[in-house]
Amino acid sequence: MAETSEQEDKKENKEEKLKAIHEKWLKDCKCELKKVATQGVPGYGNGEAEIVFIGEAPGRDEDREGKPFVGAAGKFLNEMLESINLKREDVYITNVVKYRPPGNRDPLPEEVKACAKWLEEELQIIKPKLIVFLGRHSLQHFFPNERIGAIHGKILKKKTEIGDIFFALYHPAAALYNGSMREVLIADFSKIPKVLEKIKTV
Ligand code: URA
Repeated sequence: MAETSEQEDKKENKEEKLKAIHEKWLKDCKCELKKVATQGVPGYGNGEAEIVFIGEAPGRDEDREGKPFVGAAGKFLNEMLESINLKREDVYITNVVKYRPPGNRDPLPEEVKACAKWLEEELQIIKPKLIVFLGRHSLQHFFPNERIGAIHGKILKKKTEIGDIFFALYHPAAALYNGSMREVLIADFSKIPKVLEKIKTV
């Protein structure tokens, strides 16, 4: 559907705000990984997105290109988006940690903490209807007591400043070469349109 000029203005406004916070944090972020990463990888996508996907941290390809989910996991994510009639341009994709941990190790709690305000500010600008966690790191950043194995494919609700409705998925990189996890991820992903529809009708 064509956007009205009011919708276009709103989108441009949010995209300018996002650009400004990314510039600020790329300069000011105190994450120690900054010393070893090639560059910071800010979130990327539609400022007016109804859905925000949150991954863990950039990998090798993302570190090189400066954009989230551009490697093998990103291609798998694109395929899953297409399967529910969405494109990358329709959504916003970001990570809990904005710098690549060496050898793709798990981010440390202090690295998550150092990047947390950056993530919070992105989400406050976008105010998505639905936040989708890609993997346990983003899930546990918001819901420390939940386990991805138990909660994947289910809706989580919590009143927060950045959104109230969350949905957890296995991480696409973990599921990519694991047949059964891949099937579960694809099945969980296919529930997203219904989840969004439900949010919009309440
Ligand atoms: N895995 C992530 O968690 N984030 C990316 O950007 C790429 C791979």
